[in-house]
Amino acid sequence: MTSHEDVFGQEAAATCFAPGRVNLIGEYTDLIGGNVLPMPLTKGITVTVGPALSGVHAFSTAEETKIEINLGEGKKNHWADYVAGPLVMAEKAGATIPPMNLMVESDLPAGAGVSSSAALEVATLKALFAFTGQGHSNTDIALLAQKAENEFCGVKCGIMDQMAVSVGNQGHALALNCETLEWDQVALPKGWSIAVIHCGEARQLTDGAYNERRAALDEAAAEIGPISLRSQSIDVAEKLSDPLVVRRVRHVLSEQARTLRATEALRAGDMSLLGKLMNESHESLRTNFEVSTGSLDRLVAAARDAGAFGARLTGAGFGGCIVALVAESERESWWHAVSTECPAAWAVEL
Ligand code: ADP
Ligand code: MG
Repeated sequence: MTSHEDVFGQEAAATCFAPGRVNLIGEYTDLIGGNVLPMPLTKGITVTVGPALSGVHAFSTAEETKIEINLGEGKKNHWADYVAGPLVMAEKAGATIPPMNLMVESDLPAGAGVSSSAALEVATLKALFAFTGQGHSNTDIALLAQKAENEFCGVKCGIMDQMAVSVGNQGHALALNCETLEWDQVALPKGWSIAVIHCGEARQLTDGAYNERRAALDEAAAEIGPISLRSQSIDVAEKLSDPLVVRRVRHVLSEQARTLRATEALRAGDMSLLGKLMNESHESLRTNFEVSTGSLDRLVAAARDAGAFGARLTGAGFGGCIVALVAESERESWWHAVSTECPAAWAVEL
């Protein structure tokens, strides 16, 4: 294994970790400032940091290239943008960026929908602040990381990923209100396991589809008038004129209600109800929001047939991962049955 010392000839002064994340429920609800329920994975990204004579240098064991980052130069369209962006945003917010060496090490698959980008951004910021001794709350770090992804990397993401990765707690789901950023941690009861399985089909480029969903919700908001979409009851969807907009609104409003119920179910340890709501979420994503694929549907069906209490696509859809709620004692046999049924699927985390 490559160490900080191997790459930079010095011991690391600080080591910071940020996990990947999976969203249990609350898909696309961030578009209306709704609630989400993501959970940190055990896999993640570690960034080590040490002093340099001049400049900022970054190395990733996944890329095996040492890169000098010039903070004045902007986006370069390569992996180190996810290190440079957070540093640039921290500097804009008043932080000092000293000469330093950063090493990135990961056991998280990149581009699989478990937020390696947010993990890299947040671990970089935590390493910077640990190294310089500048104090920042985990929420401030999440906001800086999101700003980096939005403005520096040019990816229009909401706040869920960075919050889950920055303030999330292992073994707990983060019940997060995306509008107020209020949150609390809800423990996963003992005896239960959250499985994250990739369907084997890479996530398709979804910019066009994403913009269409956003436009439909904007159209609905304009038709409804001054009261925000989020505070409407579900039947408002049925009064809208465009049938496509009806389906899109039906999804976000029903998903918002499901997310609140699912959070309470998890708090109460009612895993049957949590599973049922996860299943309903998938159904709505498939029929109303139309972001599922044949591979995701088959994997969700296989997961349920093999005994999952609930299973749904997680993340943006169009390929990528599902999340399943499985009894801990059945995890191995469950995965054996699922992988036999869907040979292209692979486990991100069991
Ligand atoms: P996701 O966040 O779902 O994993 P993204 O496309 O948002 O997918 O982010 C993936 C990008 O993050 C990679 O293309 C790469 O630029 C960067 N990245 C992730 N992990 C690493 C790593 N270990 N080393 C270097 N860059 C990484
Ligand atoms: Mg990402």
